[in-house]
Amino acid sequence: MSVVKMSVGKNLADVRARMARAEVVSGRAPGAAALIAVSKTRSVEEIEAAINAGQKLFGENRVQEAARKFPALKLRYPDIELHLIGPLQSNKAREAVGLFDVIHSVDREKIAVALGKEMQLQGRRPLLLVQVNVGEEPQKAGISPKELPKFLRFCRDEQKLSIAGLMCIPPVDEAPAPYFMLLSNLARENGLTLLSMGMSADFETAVQFGAAYIRVGTAIFGVRD
Ligand SMILES: *Cc1c(COP(=O)(O)O)cnc(C)c1O
Repeated sequence: MSVVKMSVGKNLADVRARMARAEVVSGRAPGAAALIAVSKTRSVEEIEAAINAGQKLFGENRVQEAARKFPALKLRYPDIELHLIGPLQSNKAREAVGLFDVIHSVDREKIAVALGKEMQLQGRRPLLLVQVNVGEEPQKAGISPKELPKFLRFCRDEQKLSIAGLMCIPPVDEAPAPYFMLLSNLARENGLTLLSMGMSADFETAVQFGAAYIRVGTAIFGVRD
């Protein structure tokens, strides 16, 4: 077995064990949280090592990169699921709707409009999550918490888009728990259930605060170049 295969398989087993423990500790059902392996910058060989270790959900943050790697992989492994976790430009909406099963980064009206139009045209309905800028950081993507109800109404009433949940990336170098709690409260207040939160450094905390999806790259594939 190659070194890549061994380390990816072992890392995946470790991450899954830590998720399972976090589910038990927080009284959540086994399997309540799903693991997205974030494969941005990773080779097809590394992704296949993860697939061979039983991984089915993958996350990419650029449409172009995903479009290079995943169509062939999806043909060979039809049950893998592809998640867009990075920012989306409206001129990439067509490709994104065609390629991704879940889009975590709906973050402005222009994108909601473009996605709605493409979903209608293509008859394909990826699950949609709204990205929330929980730390209200000027450089970060996402709807601000106070604008969220209005944006959700726009998606639902004007675009007839069904939004399944919320995604966040808390500020780096701050304790993530208050931000995970904020996302969970915002979801409840707005009648949403799916939460996408938690990365390599904080996924156990995210599981405790109700994450449905955690997005883990480094802890599975090693440090990115
Ligand atoms: C890269 C990325 C991740 C994974 O980060 P790691 O720290 O490598 O686990 C998760 N979410 C988003 C949005 C990312 O861009």
